[in-house]
Amino acid sequence: MYLNNIKRGSVLLLLVFLLSACQQVTEKPKYPLFYSDAIFGTRFNIKASALPNAVKSDELKIQIKQLLDKLNGQMSTYLQDSELSKINQNQTGEWINVSDALYEVLKQAKLTSELSQGAFDITVGPLVNLWGFGPSEMSYKAPEDKKVKQLLLNIGYKNLLYNDETHQVKKAIPLLYLDLSAIAKGYAVDRVGMLLEAQGIENYMVEIGGELRLKGLNIQNKPWRIAIEKPTINMRVIEKVLPLSNIALATSGDYRNFFEQNGIRFSHTIDPHTGKPITHKLASVTILSDTTMKADALATAFMVLGEDKGYQLAEKENIKALFIIKTKDGFKEKATNSFVARLR
Ligand code: ADP
Ligand code: MG
Repeated sequence: MYLNNIKRGSVLLLLVFLLSACQQVTEKPKYPLFYSDAIFGTRFNIKASALPNAVKSDELKIQIKQLLDKLNGQMSTYLQDSELSKINQNQTGEWINVSDALYEVLKQAKLTSELSQGAFDITVGPLVNLWGFGPSEMSYKAPEDKKVKQLLLNIGYKNLLYNDETHQVKKAIPLLYLDLSAIAKGYAVDRVGMLLEAQGIENYMVEIGGELRLKGLNIQNKPWRIAIEKPTINMRVIEKVLPLSNIALATSGDYRNFFEQNGIRFSHTIDPHTGKPITHKLASVTILSDTTMKADALATAFMVLGEDKGYQLAEKENIKALFIIKTKDGFKEKATNSFVARLR
């Protein structure tokens, strides 16, 4: 589905867990809504600490599942007949009608591309596929330079034109191909959150493939406790635990979905300017924002920009970002001022 990485197995960059309020409590209280399943090639986890009387957990689960399936049918590059796949197949050069949901995601993608000067670019899809991180099987080897250069000619977010009045888009070049893997999961998280809020649910956690939206408190009446992983390959070690509420959070990393050839690691994040996987020392970026869609896209954008350019931009734009950087003997952290302030 959206997320290519999903396909290749586990991707949870963030482990969400509950800490029991105190050691003496032998039995943990149960969440009245607890829903976990597979979606988009990854997993989701949804919890609500309390449900209004009229809301039945089983019915809610059905509604959530229907919503996720609908979004998958709009934004997946893994489904040949999704709305997005049909746009990708459309080579007429004419204006194309787009559903409200898809249009909203495409607009946010454009804003993130502009902010990051093209570091985030959903038209990078053909290169994602060429490097083996798309819907087809992984090849585990680097493609020829010639092929990369050839595909770069059909890439560039400016080649997707928007009409806000009619909610239509147009491809300025026929072979333009869109990949929403770096943003659609985040959007889906927001939509599930809004569905819960519309039912009067005020204390919840929604997580899909490591992207999160948190409202209110957990079942122990405490802020949600979110663990950020150390960006190590073979082990899952916690770097730090953040107590959070009323915020969205996303992490992008180079340590879960990649292949190695001759000792070089090729990650699933592609620099749209070179057509190649990123090579700098940044291991992961975590973003806090008001929507998970924004956080998701920004995390990938900063992952492409790297620890220096990315950090400067995040600081300048007042974005809450935590960069985890590889060093000779481990990792170091660099957080923007607004990130630090939010956790104080
Ligand atoms: P992460 O959690 O590491 O950010 P995501 O699944 O959110 O992973 O996003 C990674 C996916 O985004 C890649 O598999 C690819 O499909 C797509 N992608 C890669 N490079 C870019 C880029 N520069 N801009 C937008 N999307 C990208
Ligand atoms: Mg992302």
